[in-house]
Amino acid sequence: MNVHEAGPKPVNLPENWAPASWQSKAAKQQPAYPDQGALNATLSELSRLPPLVTSWEILGLKRQLADAQEGKRFLLQGGDCAESFADCESGLISSRLKVLLQMSVVLVHGLRLPVVRVGRFAGQYAKPRSADLETKDGVTLPSYRGDLINAPGFDVASRTPDPRRMIEGHSRSALTMNFVRSLIDGGFADLHHPEYWDLGWVTHSPLAQEYQRRVEAIGDAVRFMEAITGESMHSANRVEFFTSHEALLLHYEQGLTRQVPRHWGWFNLSTHFPWIGMRTADLDGAHVEYLRGVRNPIAVKVGPSVTPDQLLRVVDALNPHDEPGRLTLIHRMGVGQIESVLPKLLQAVQREGRRVLWVADPMHGNTESTGNGYKTRRFENIRGELDAAFDIHAAVGTRLGGVHLELTGEDVTECLGGARDLTETDLARAYRSTVDPRLNYEQSMELAMLIVRKRGG
Ligand code: PEP
Ligand code: MN
Repeated sequence: MNVHEAGPKPVNLPENWAPASWQSKAAKQQPAYPDQGALNATLSELSRLPPLVTSWEILGLKRQLADAQEGKRFLLQGGDCAESFADCESGLISSRLKVLLQMSVVLVHGLRLPVVRVGRFAGQYAKPRSADLETKDGVTLPSYRGDLINAPGFDVASRTPDPRRMIEGHSRSALTMNFVRSLIDGGFADLHHPEYWDLGWVTHSPLAQEYQRRVEAIGDAVRFMEAITGESMHSANRVEFFTSHEALLLHYEQGLTRQVPRHWGWFNLSTHFPWIGMRTADLDGAHVEYLRGVRNPIAVKVGPSVTPDQLLRVVDALNPHDEPGRLTLIHRMGVGQIESVLPKLLQAVQREGRRVLWVADPMHGNTESTGNGYKTRRFENIRGELDAAFDIHAAVGTRLGGVHLELTGEDVTECLGGARDLTETDLARAYRSTVDPRLNYEQSMELAMLIVRKRGG
């Protein structure tokens, strides 16, 4: 049964598709669950649990992304590389929200554009890995694939994929969502009170002055409008926040794919904005098959090995009717390769007149290992890739409409450089990520300020 939405059935619903149709395709990066019976029981439970987001919110985000495609908004998407179940904790959630809010204030003020705020949270629990197995001291075990699948400890019990973790992941996502929604509904993001989102140590930062200046300017503008209109700006009380995660573990995504009253088609109700990672973006693969069928706005990571022709075929598969807001392409090339690789991809999409939102992820192409064994990224390379991305889009005549970042509101030492010029020896002090290195609070703010300077704000 398909329940009707107001108006005629949209012409662009996918053909020959079902939530499980991905199962007939090659699915990369999936765990080998040892017990099929336990998997099936979990999936049937998961498919009865309430959804985490609504179709109205999803379609609202799609409209905002359509605006961003036209240069009327800018997308800020950020959060941890991977959330962990243990980090589902009030302090960490609120400081991540704060840094994203503060960055968005800088962007709104400097770019003179509304910002679409999307967290990499409330479901970012599954990770692609370069190898299925890991060997240590002669012992070989499955790789850690994120808390949705197994646990990081190096022992058989931790590393054996456990389907019950999908139920736990759903619950932790719901707890996170609930807290984020309550904070926002309670006025946490009220532009009249930006002091609510001050992170304790912002005042000690060399960047604090510029931030304070922008916050005061926004406060003045809000009060000025209220004086002129004689009314309180209610819309300044509230900002919207959307969620995103990599749609990697397809059983989980399928379990939360639903039909809803009053809207046609199928929605992934585990998140507003799922994306396909670089390692699972093959045209004939299961991830493209799954995501082509849901009505959410979706994104695809585009790495340096993708050819213009392959990219156009992925665009065709995922957005055959060129629907506004539907498709975001997140390029992640690395500072060394972006100049040689990106222009021809932009030109190909431009030549075909396809409607996409271009977003830069300056993190994932710039990962390296230090001599003392840390996975890190240099702030100057992250900044360099972002700078180059703006310049290349300007030269080709396309538009960079957003950024995708790995960041945290905490004072971690995972990326080198930045305003405090973190060095290799600093990394040991507060390296907390179990996967990729994140920008810390100050490095995130610095990047937001660089974006607005780059755009002349
Ligand atoms: C990620 O976003 O954490 C990730 C793995 O990215 P990519 O697919 O671009 O490598
Ligand atoms: Mn990552």
